[in-house]
Amino acid sequence: MRTTMQANVFHGINDIRGDTVPKPSAGPGEALLRITATTICGTDLHIVRGEYPVKPGLIIGHEPVGVIEELGAGVALMERSRP
Ligand SMILES: [Zn+2]
Repeated sequence: MRTTMQANVFHGINDIRGDTVPKPSAGPGEALLRITATTICGTDLHIVRGEYPVKPGLIIGHEPVGVIEELGAGVALMERSRP
């Protein structure tokens, strides 16, 4: 079982790096996804340019598509009926 993952980490203005970081686990009410595709949105660009201040160390990117790897307490998958 993997204990680390790759992540885009903000280190400073115009300094984003692909780092190896500890893999989180799903807490209550959360789901852990294995990201299979993602994109960059305007908020990410504002962060990189320093126009939207964040603390160094923040993992950026919030437009993912992925596969559920783990569900936290209180989270259940819903059956989806087909049309
Ligand atoms: Zn966005």
